Amino acid sequence: MQIAAIIAAGGRGLRLGVGRPKQLVEVGGRPILQHSVDTFLASDRFSQIVVVLPPELVSDPPACLQARGPRLQLIGGGARRQDSVANGFDRLAGGVEVIVVHDAARPFVDRDLIDRTLDAAIETGAAIAALRASDTVKQADPESAAGRPVIGRTLARDTIFLAQTPQAFRVEVLRDAIALGRAGREATDEAALAEEAGHRVRLVEGSARNIKITTCQDLAMARAMAGDAGGDVAARPAASALRVGAGYDLHRLVDGRPLMLGGVTIPHCRGLQGHSDADVLCHAITDAVLGAAGSGDIGRHFPDSDDRWRGASSLDLLRRAVAMAREAGFRVVNVDAVVVTEQPRLAPHVEAIVRSLAGALSADPSSVSVKGKTNEGVGEIGRGEAIAAHAVALLERVP
Ligand code: MG
Repeated sequence: MQIAAIIAAGGRGLRLGVGRPKQLVEVGGRPILQHSVDTFLASDRFSQIVVVLPPELVSDPPACLQARGPRLQLIGGGARRQDSVANGFDRLAGGVEVIVVHDAARPFVDRDLIDRTLDAAIETGAAIAALRASDTVKQADPESAAGRPVIGRTLARDTIFLAQTPQAFRVEVLRDAIALGRAGREATDEAALAEEAGHRVRLVEGSARNIKITTCQDLAMARAMAGDAGGDVAARPAASALRVGAGYDLHRLVDGRPLMLGGVTIPHCRGLQGHSDADVLCHAITDAVLGAAGSGDIGRHFPDSDDRWRGASSLDLLRRAVAMAREAGFRVVNVDAVVVTEQPRLAPHVEAIVRSLAGALSADPSSVSVKGKTNEGVGEIGRGEAIAAHAVALLERVP
């Protein structure tokens, strides 16, 4: 029997808000999409696996989809999820009898769940993985005021199932479902279209691990499930919502360079030496932010061996670090920093520096503090040969 899979990854994952396609965000060291692709490729039941992607990713496929063998095909998706699945369906080989549709946003699907859903569909024509509701389900009264819903009725919990993917169909069932969709019917899954087309769809016991990643909270949970923070999630106390990071840096003062501190050019006869603009304050804060997010350090992301960062604005590097922290699920709560310098006096510039840093940190200026200290004439800083900066950053997990 010829069996094909359609992996729907055509969305752009805007609700995750990470600034790049959700399916390429890493969980457990692999892009979200690669988890499902690997799982389906590991099964020899599939003669064809069609991955439906945003068109720009088809012309420039991610590394995890390159050179994966002749069974894997990449095609461009449509405006809605159902259009993407329809595009995938059009690309199936002639002899395919059964199709499994899976949503790439569910990376933890396993072989057992795929096989059970597939076997039920082979037997009955159509089947989906679904989880029994464990909470009591209330249906809002459609007459109640918008934004202030009132219970219309309580549904019998033992009849409620929450649909997941995989969803599997005999080819004629999926053809009917897709035809309804093409006729203008909107649906959030193929099973809804199959039902409407008059087919019976079997419910197969789904898996609580088979979560769908839609929001930042889902992503944090998926990463915990994949052991990204180390260890088994069940054996670990819940990760703290607050994280602190420390940063330190020192640059030599030399003639003929502008002095940049916190993204502000400070009038002075000398400036700091370095590969970038050598903004020692931004560097210390960048390390504090990356450290709190568990995202490495400035040298790893912006090495001075890389020409891209020659003369770079360190305020821009800080902005990038804040985006990386955001991607890891954190935002900045507050930053406190000390600049140790004999000359020039920092006080007249603190307000401008705080405003500049607050912009890069996406934080309110009231949560950014910068203090100037001298070194009392002691050591290299005291002799005016260098400026150092210390910083701490507090980050919080965002939903
Ligand atoms: Mg530095």
